[in-house]
Amino acid sequence: MIFVRKFVKKGQKNKHMRETIGTDYSIQIPSYTVGPDAYRMIPKYCSLYGQKAVVIGGHKAMAAAREKLLAATEHSSITITGFLHYGDEATYEASEVLQKDPLVQDADMIFAVGGGKAVDTSKVTALALGKPFFTFPTIASNCAAASSVAIMYNPDGSFREFRHYLDTEKHVFIDTDIIANAPWEYLWAGIGDTYAKYYEVSASSRGEQLPHFLATGVTLSRMCMETLLRFGKQAIDDNKAGIVSEALTECALTIIMTTGWVSMLVARQHTMDYNGGVAHALFYSLCELPGFDETHIHGVVVGFGVLLQLLIFGETEEFEKLRDFNRQIGLPVSFSEIGVTLDQVRQIAPRMTRDEDVEHFPFKLTVEQVMEAAGKLR
Ligand SMILES: [Zn+2]
Repeated sequence: MIFVRKFVKKGQKNKHMRETIGTDYSIQIPSYTVGPDAYRMIPKYCSLYGQKAVVIGGHKAMAAAREKLLAATEHSSITITGFLHYGDEATYEASEVLQKDPLVQDADMIFAVGGGKAVDTSKVTALALGKPFFTFPTIASNCAAASSVAIMYNPDGSFREFRHYLDTEKHVFIDTDIIANAPWEYLWAGIGDTYAKYYEVSASSRGEQLPHFLATGVTLSRMCMETLLRFGKQAIDDNKAGIVSEALTECALTIIMTTGWVSMLVARQHTMDYNGGVAHALFYSLCELPGFDETHIHGVVVGFGVLLQLLIFGETEEFEKLRDFNRQIGLPVSFSEIGVTLDQVRQIAPRMTRDEDVEHFPFKLTVEQVMEAAGKLR
């Protein structure tokens, strides 16, 4: 019998109640192919699920991937029946339009091509129709291509909800040539959001005895930090030069796959969730300030927010190491660099301490702790 602290829905009082995990459970994580010719493996992994595939993606992503997708399937049992734009936002409304499209209805499988929003819309569409789906990330900025969550928005662009599900993508195809030729800023921001995974997950799970899947996720999360601190600078330089290198490949895999695996392993059907920490609580709280969301990149602020968490935990050595790394790659190391004053931090600090991202912490975060640490990062 295993007990873990239980993450309960937002707004409920007893956040850290213990939950018994029964004797039966399944864990599903996606497999991947990576390399400049990764799409060559499409027939091998997809033919099991049928013959007709429809591509759903963003305009730029499909332009980058189109020829390669067609070449990879040309003399194979897989036929690509069409290329459909996902819409302008990751919305249920856009997904409903796609679900009614004859090409989608007729397809045996869906190929989701692009960044986070295109992939999330495609995933939701495939899930609604019960069709298998494969993902083709064209930027290395987040783990949408390898996670079991879709971030859904309203048609006006405002956040709607996290849609959690159990089915995962059948396989992830990561073409490093396409990623090397994407704007480097995606990778840069992705680095901040990804190393945060390690710091937040390890803080959330501190001092707990964990069952197999959670322990695996927490242990694996270390790679979200180590690989990026080792290869991050080189990967950004290589991305700027459009070069497929070991550093870029390692970083792309870390941002897309390792983070996706970790997020699946450390959260279970949304009942226990070790994802999140001070960095995400800071970002979502700052988004309450007018105009902040529209003018700041998620991963950049989250990458800075980890520094705040490290100071709150009194981890000076780790703080200095990460601050040096941020300086090296140009991620912010102070509130002034993200245009936020200490008065504004004071304004959002109470909300931060109530954010669901810090609900699973080993201690109750206080406004005083936030302000004391923030004072060192002005
Ligand atoms: Zn994030």
